[in-house]
Amino acid sequence: MVEAGSEHPVRRTPRRVVAALAVAAVASAVLGSGLAFAQSGGVGAPGTTTTPAPTTAPPGSMVFPVSGAHTIGQGFGAARSGHSHQGQDIFAACGTPLVAVSRAKVKWVSYQGSAGNYVVIRNKKLHQDYMYAHLATRAPVSKGQIVMPGQQVGVVGQTGNARGCHLHFELWLGKWYRGGHPVNPLPYLQSYAGY
Ligand SMILES: [Zn+2]
Repeated sequence: MVEAGSEHPVRRTPRRVVAALAVAAVASAVLGSGLAFAQSGGVGAPGTTTTPAPTTAPPGSMVFPVSGAHTIGQGFGAARSGHSHQGQDIFAACGTPLVAVSRAKVKWVSYQGSAGNYVVIRNKKLHQDYMYAHLATRAPVSKGQIVMPGQQVGVVGQTGNARGCHLHFELWLGKWYRGGHPVNPLPYLQSYAGY
């Protein structure tokens, strides 16, 4: 009988020998995995390669509006008295250059009680308007002027209703207060060169 014959040696193996063999197998498995780990660590884990950031933005790409050291502040939708924050605050030292995020046409250069000195530029191709607020001084551009990506449109300040030097940046899909609506600019900003 085949069944009886194959069963016979198993029954005769003493239990403590089986247990010892099992412990040895586990120990070797642990040691083996430890060695494998050390070896792969020495060679270098995959996925650690980094691509150096480009020093200049490739043609057609978008540029971060603050040209200098900055920190991301309060975002879109933050509660304000009577309304919600419809832009993204970006803190930087007063005087830090503010630049056009893309090729755009200057639509408004003005001053308003809460925005302070502000400038609105329009990217006709993307149907987006960008508003920069709290500029230290009046924007050095004029209505109707075409600005290029990275071209200076002002400097960081704290005019109007601002606490601390920062840029209040709005991104509108469509026209600023002329049928468009503001969206959360952060995902856009994060994709811009110099973020
Ligand atoms: Zn703001």
